[in-house]
Formats: sequence, structure tokens, C-alpha cells
Amino acid sequence: MKLTLFFFALIYSAIGWANTSNIAVTKLSEDAFILNAIGYGTNIGLFKTTDGIVLVDPMPGEKNLDTLHALIDSLAGGSARFVLNTHAHSDHSGGNSYFIGQGGLLMNDAVHLTEIEDFAAISHSGVDKVYFHAKSNSIFVGDIYDTSWHPTFYAGGVSGFSKAIEGILKLGNDESIIVPGHGKPTGKTELQLFKNNTLAWVARVKKLKGDGKSAIEIKNDAQIKIILGKFNVENKADFVPEEAFVRFIERTLAVIEKGE
Ligand SMILES: [Zn+2]
Repeated sequence: MKLTLFFFALIYSAIGWANTSNIAVTKLSEDAFILNAIGYGTNIGLFKTTDGIVLVDPMPGEKNLDTLHALIDSLAGGSARFVLNTHAHSDHSGGNSYFIGQGGLLMNDAVHLTEIEDFAAISHSGVDKVYFHAKSNSIFVGDIYDTSWHPTFYAGGVSGFSKAIEGILKLGNDESIIVPGHGKPTGKTELQLFKNNTLAWVARVKKLKGDGKSAIEIKNDAQIKIILGKFNVENKADFVPEEAFVRFIERTLAVIEKGE
């Protein structure tokens, strides 16, 4: 995996004070980039295609939209022609209207785009979209996959999640770069591991529920703690605070109850 990471710092001044904003740029190929606003964290895709400039999930936080726009211009030599989203949540779609205002066209899918392939899934949200850019061999998968947080398969349950991951693994080849909605990009091996860990998590929660344990009791289970730790691939010190840990268990229990 050849990823060159450099930081593109733009300093601009607003009325009366100076503000600094940093958007990290990962170059995937001559035509493809991941942009990520430090402190916001959504992975934004930028593709220079024969159809024009295509953006995936262009949301760097409200205050960084102008900076992102300027950065896109400097990297791709123009404004976005097409805007795609991996799903509708605002941390991915919140920049849509800004880029529509700059002349971009919001697309429901990539059917009319020559260089991008897509498929729909139900896992993190009711409508998840995965985008494959063959020229850079990169796959933007949104929040079906997250390398900075625990999995969130609440819309599709285990079956929707498994189907989504299997679909992603079928795209590209062994060298494909998998770009999660948040966190560092990985290869397919790590994605497969994420799937295995997620299934192990659900199986363990199910077992403990069967033993009559409450969410709080499940939280204190040694194996559950180990499995949660496996999602902390970036070795964050404060990975999933206690409250979020309990919520993850409760939401997993809800998925299990729905029989998905
Ligand atoms: Zn997200």
C-alpha cells in the first residue's frame, strides 16, 4: 500500500482574527485523494475523472468548507462536478449544499460516472453506498467500516453487515485500499479481521444475554473487553468511553432481539 501522507495547511484570516485550518491529504494515485479535516475526521474522497471532479462525503466541518473548496481547487484544478455520499448522516452529507452551491451535482449513485463503480448495502444506515475507483484501486465504504471506533451495524444487523463486507471484498483485488468512513485506510486483510471481530462480539453478547446478564454485567465481562480492544487498531488511549461502551452493548442487544 503506497500512501503518501502530507499535511496541507491553509492559513486564512477572518474578520479581526486569524484562523488556521488543517486538512490532511492522502494521495492514493495521480487522480485520487483522501482529505480529512483534523479534529473532524470524516474521510472525504476526491477523484479527478474524465467526467469531471467527483467528491465523496465532502464534509470537513462547517467552518472548514471554504478551506476544503480551496484545497480541491489546488489539487484537482477546479470545482466539484459531482457529489456522492456513502450515507445520509450529516458528518458525511453536511457539505452537500455548499458544493451544490458551487455548481456541483448531487448524485444518488455512480451509475452515470465512467470511472466509479458502486453498490448499495444496508448495514450502518438504511441506505449505505460503497464506491470503487479502479484507477487508484481504492474503495470508499463509509461507516460500514470504521478504524477509529467500534462497529455500528445497527441498520442491517449481522446479516446486512456481513453482506456489505462480502460485497466490498469482491471489489478490486488483494491490493485494494479500503477507505473507512473514519480512521486510517487499510487493506482487505484488516477488513476481514474487522468482520471476524464483529461477529465474535455479537456472538459473545448473545451468549451473555442467554446467561441472563444485563448490559452493565456484559460490559464487565473479560472477553467482551478483549473483543472491544481489537477494534482499537489505532491504539487510542481513550478508545470508546464507558458510556459509549454500554450503548454499544445495548444497541447490539437490540439487533439480537430483532433477530438480524
Ligand atoms: Zn460517520
